[in-house]
Amino acid sequence: YFNSNTVAFLDGEFVQASEATCGVYAQSLHYGYAVFEGIRAYNTPQGSQIFKAEEHFERLHYSCKAVGLPLDYSVAELTQISYQLLEKNGLTDAYLRPLVYAATPNMSLKHAASSNLLMAVWEWGKYLGDQSLRLTISPYERPNPKAVPIEAKVAGHYVNSIIASSEAKGRGYDEALLLDMHGYVAEGPGANFFFEKNGELYTAPAGSILRGITRNTIIDLAREAGITVHEQFFTPAELQGAEGAFMTGTAAEVIGVSSVDELVFEKPFAETIGAQLASRYHALVTGQPARAQSLELRA
Ligand code: PMP
Repeated sequence: YFNSNTVAFLDGEFVQASEATCGVYAQSLHYGYAVFEGIRAYNTPQGSQIFKAEEHFERLHYSCKAVGLPLDYSVAELTQISYQLLEKNGLTDAYLRPLVYAATPNMSLKHAASSNLLMAVWEWGKYLGDQSLRLTISPYERPNPKAVPIEAKVAGHYVNSIIASSEAKGRGYDEALLLDMHGYVAEGPGANFFFEKNGELYTAPAGSILRGITRNTIIDLAREAGITVHEQFFTPAELQGAEGAFMTGTAAEVIGVSSVDELVFEKPFAETIGAQLASRYHALVTGQPARAQSLELRA
């Protein structure tokens, strides 16, 4: 993530990443009390462009409000810092990680009176790789939205992600698929989930998921192409008979899913709507005109 030349932004200054530290009495470290974002910049014909910077930094503000962490930087300032950080590190295609946390030594369970901002940047390939994934339903559920603000990107929520993902990998799968507290399919540890049935797409509704910015982009691209998208609750049993499935996220981008436990989807990912949307997504983020041939999605 960094070497001796890497520059990070920390509390108003650009610093050597290797020298950015946090004390062991930080409130955030003890209680997982921090919020973050995952953002990508892409090399485009117009130079390096951060995809949906405004949406990501607005979600960072939303997450701060949800847990009572003050954030002293506007969306415009955060965007400007991001471009400066890319430039100082000589990166055009990169992943940006803003982290708002409470570094003050404080063992209380009260909202922090002030916060700190780290912004880091590194080169990161698609984090789930580019081979279709074999998923398994996790024995861990997503956190109850009445216990934590699940639509906020809170550091502590990722303990659930770490244990679910590790448990799935320990059983030989590529990634976990988590249910909500009512037994409906929610999302992966770090990505949203879609499936395709009878030429239509289904994904979990808002409520017990992180409403991914990639998810929203894929819904828009699908609807523009005339595909019906249902945001509705579904159980794992309803995946029977589906043609295909995929996951979406800033780090993962759009990645095919070949199976969920014993259920193997009917089509290879390359022949699904998901694969066509993945190529549209790639064209969009890299500023390429959508491929000339129109999507023949409803053939
Ligand atoms: N769900 C979870 C739990 C995530 O961590 C992520 C990654 N931020 C997503 C969904 C996808 O969100 P986005 O498309 O905004 O990156």
